[in-house]
Amino acid sequence: MAKYYITHTCGHGHEHVLFGKNTDRERILKSQERSECPDCVRAKNIANAKANALKEGLSDLKGTEKQTEWAEQIRIRQLPVLKALYKAVQAIKPPNEDGQKLQDWMIRRVQEMMHTLEAAWWIETRTDELATFRSQLMKEAKAWGVQQGLNLGGGTKS
Ligand SMILES: [Zn+2]
Repeated sequence: MAKYYITHTCGHGHEHVLFGKNTDRERILKSQERSECPDCVRAKNIANAKANALKEGLSDLKGTEKQTEWAEQIRIRQLPVLKALYKAVQAIKPPNEDGQKLQDWMIRRVQEMMHTLEAAWWIETRTDELATFRSQLMKEAKAWGVQQGLNLGGGTKS
């Protein structure tokens, strides 16, 4: 283990602690010298995520500064997943009026998810994929349908 002081392309100096073989260390040091410092990279990622969120018409997230900075990057990554879910829900052909009600509810619920402003929710769902969101939605939809006493024809199978 050794400590190295590197001046990055942004002009900021940072101490890096490196382990391993000398050749590996040299390679890492070289690539670090050619890039911006970790703080600048982080700030840039956050700024990019914020700019994208703005473009998508999304409001600012709520939470601590640390939470919202992290969640902003997760949200922009997860948005296409939720958009795909939205499309899938829209494509459903309800068998009857109750099914239509359920679909309307599902569309609303996915919109709610996309526009969730709680940073903590995005952090909790950071590793969720389409399948997870879909099964979560189905579970909620079923509970909602039961609560409403809907007759869903053949569509109630889980
Ligand atoms: Zn920097």
